[in-house]
Amino acid sequence: MNELIKVSHLSKAYKNHQVVKDLSFSIKQGELFSILGPNGAGKSTLISLILGLVKADSGEILVEGQPMDRQSIEYKSLISVVFQESILDAELSVKDNLLIRSYFYTNNWKKAEQLLKEKLADVDGLYLLNKRYGVLSGGERRKVDIARALLNTPKLLFLDEPTTGLDIISRANMWKLIHQLKEKYQMTIVLTTHYMEEARDSSTIVMLEKGQVVAYDSPKELKETYHCLTLEDVFLTIMEKGSEQNECISI
Ligand code: ADP
Repeated sequence: MNELIKVSHLSKAYKNHQVVKDLSFSIKQGELFSILGPNGAGKSTLISLILGLVKADSGEILVEGQPMDRQSIEYKSLISVVFQESILDAELSVKDNLLIRSYFYTNNWKKAEQLLKEKLADVDGLYLLNKRYGVLSGGERRKVDIARALLNTPKLLFLDEPTTGLDIISRANMWKLIHQLKEKYQMTIVLTTHYMEEARDSSTIVMLEKGQVVAYDSPKELKETYHCLTLEDVFLTIMEKGSEQNECISI
């Protein structure tokens, strides 16, 4: 697999608080990549750095082998992101929310409507078309947010804690959807989560703790290295004993 994003020695501090410390890892084209870590570990900051929303103090980010240029149109159309806080308007219908954004990419109202319907269908959300965004359930909102992020058919989709706050059924549906999208568009999907077990289907996991990488491997390799049956136990082991040891702590 080709490298889509390469992060080298990335650091970021707010005043004296070092939020991201010397991070290095790569995201390959077409993989499902999970950024794991407890609240405050630096996951959202890392995403903002990769998106160019926040400037790094030091380090480098290469996108398809080139230094990241956050102003470039190519970069903007390469990546989409769904943050936990939606950018859509609660007062507008789903259709009106998406229509304006869809028009940016098509310059034609009829095509814009076709495009938004296609992306809503991708997230099994066509039935939401004429509902007001503000009345949707958490799971439905997340679907529409993802449809919005798909309008430019990105190569890389970032999902910031896509299942946080969802009930168990909506969470299962969200995972089904993530896998469907990956298959359909051969898209690279990077997500953050603090639910360790949700990362089990990822090809690669990077675990963060206090802004540092404490583990970086496939779920299978991580479980083997630490002799654990679950990723949750891997994480607890690393937190309790540090990444140097290999005797699993089980809860
Ligand atoms: P996570 O997404 O893993 O929960 P964040 O990246 O949101 O972690 O935050 C990591 C740390 O950085 C937290 O202690 C948070 O308070 C701090 N932080 C994040 N953004 C800012 C900011 N703009 N100014 C100051 N501190 C910040």
